[in-house]
Amino acid sequence: MIDLKNILDFDINELRNWMKENGEKEFRAKQIFDWIYKDCFEFDQMRNLPESLRKKLKEKLYVGIPEVVEKYKSRDGDTNKFLFRYMDGNIIETVVMHYKHGNSICVSTQFGCRMGCSFCASTVNGMVRNMTCGEILGQILAARKEIGERISNIVLMGTGEPLDNFENVLKFIDLTNADYGFNIGQRHITLSTCGLVPQIKKLADMNYQITLAVSLHAPNDKIRIEMMPIANKYPINEILDACRYYIDKTNRRITFEYALIKGKNNSPENAAELADILKGMLCHVNLIPVNTVVENGFSKPSPEEVNTFCGLLAKRGIETTVRREMGSDINAACGQLRRSYLKDQRSD
Ligand code: SAH
Repeated sequence: MIDLKNILDFDINELRNWMKENGEKEFRAKQIFDWIYKDCFEFDQMRNLPESLRKKLKEKLYVGIPEVVEKYKSRDGDTNKFLFRYMDGNIIETVVMHYKHGNSICVSTQFGCRMGCSFCASTVNGMVRNMTCGEILGQILAARKEIGERISNIVLMGTGEPLDNFENVLKFIDLTNADYGFNIGQRHITLSTCGLVPQIKKLADMNYQITLAVSLHAPNDKIRIEMMPIANKYPINEILDACRYYIDKTNRRITFEYALIKGKNNSPENAAELADILKGMLCHVNLIPVNTVVENGFSKPSPEEVNTFCGLLAKRGIETTVRREMGSDINAACGQLRRSYLKDQRSD
């Protein structure tokens, strides 16, 4: 078992090479991916492969689809949350949201998270390890099979900091773009980061057409440091410089996420300061009334306060939206995803 490799970690060229190295025809690679992307995850059921190849595949590779441990549906039926277990026992959560324009999947990128944001459940138990690109991809295959519908948008906003797992996440994005795979365009992918400056610049240089979302959450470093330890390393001015560089290189509008926490970052002064630092940038602010996480005790401002904050930004020329809350009744909303489901059960 130990030597088995997850075939979902391969791109088509790597699988073609594998075929060559194993004395097989290269075109088999495409045939196998065709089966996998048609939701057939057993080599034995891939009928157009010779018996000898199926045997070889089973000896050396496996299709790393995580097992469904639990699934939850929100009361309105629009949000599905899955608890997925991988071969080594690690568990993560994946959320699928149904919108009028299609299904959007929120994938996790690490088992746990080491960023330590005070308002977020994903970081409560720290990080175990990075997910491989195939493990990230496995969430989409498993979730799609469960819901039986096409998935058209991907948000990298589940557990983990995607830019802390740079190589695997970029390979994942490449694989979701591939025409033999999901064929999801980069413009349908949003990557959210807590603001890792060097990686934002590196991403800019690679010229991806994905949407970058940056978790700002505060208008100045003083407040930000109280909420996000990473703010000690990368001050807001450096993050904004990296964002300007990203916009210059890619011509893409950046989204700034701002979790509104009552009494912490939601005053009219905070709104004015935020508008000042973002003035003139090709950007958009997405306000998220903070979601409850048992550990943190933060509460969200009233809808009126949220509207006031939103209005103050808009008045100063900053395009602003309020994120529609989905799945909070099943702990599937932003910041409510956590790795340890055992702990989750104990704290009920
Ligand atoms: N690590 C990445 C992506 C993860 S979370 C990041 O930091 O951006 C996706 C978004 O949900 C982030 O903007 C995150 O800050 C926000 N979030 C985390 N906890 C939250 C909470 N309790 N309420 C509302 N938003 C939260």
